Amino acid sequence: MILTGDYHTHTVYSDGENTISENAACAKELGIGTIAITEHGFTHLVFGLRRKQKEEYVREIHRARDETGINVLVGIEGNVCGLAGRSDLKEEDYADFDIFLAGFHLMSQHDTPRDFFNSTRGYFKYHWGGKPSARLVADTTRSYINAIQKNPIDVITHLNYECFADAVEVAKCCRDEGTYIEISGKKPHLSDEELVAVAETGVRFLVNSDAHSVTRIGDVAIALEQLQRVGIPFDRVDNIEGRVPVFRLAQYKERHL
Ligand SMILES: [Zn+2]
Ligand SMILES: [Zn+2]
Repeated sequence: MILTGDYHTHTVYSDGENTISENAACAKELGIGTIAITEHGFTHLVFGLRRKQKEEYVREIHRARDETGINVLVGIEGNVCGLAGRSDLKEEDYADFDIFLAGFHLMSQHDTPRDFFNSTRGYFKYHWGGKPSARLVADTTRSYINAIQKNPIDVITHLNYECFADAVEVAKCCRDEGTYIEISGKKPHLSDEELVAVAETGVRFLVNSDAHSVTRIGDVAIALEQLQRVGIPFDRVDNIEGRVPVFRLAQYKERHL
């Protein structure tokens, strides 16, 4: 199935393997009309986009748009930094960006020691097993919700990857604020049961590749397979079958900038 847009890809600006123009050329070759370049955000301590690279990054994406003639979006995959709801883009960045993704990542800045311990605990429990405490789940859920409410986040990436939130509560907030939940083509992050419960909230989905090299751009097969397996109709997904998503950041910019 051809995507209307692949809204989550990485390049050499963070931990991807290819250049912006290579990602864009690949999308064009595949017949995908829109590709977002969404590097890890400024608050990622290891391979996030650096603030001093921002201008060059934006320029290069605009150049790729001119070269290919397809829609290449300036994006970021920001972090959910903690209970305060901080994420990567500030109001003054909005003019430069087209799409704002956010997810939990281990090596991001945290606002308080409690946020750091929550993130680290979640990571270790995810990979080594063990039941998360009620407080950890409550804090993680609250961190997602505060981030979604305080920032015009367009898409929550890999919900509950390396962390433990109440996915249904996060989904309700996404539904109310107009934020998409991404079903990743990289690997499944919600169990079948969780995905069904999340869908029952009425939230809308995107399927994206999270490609870190051109070999995976547009690859969402496992996401579609899971949706089909659990009986969620494809019309709940807004970037396939010719549908075009409506993004919060763009709407925010129209109203406020
Ligand atoms: Zn990520
Ligand atoms: Zn990513």
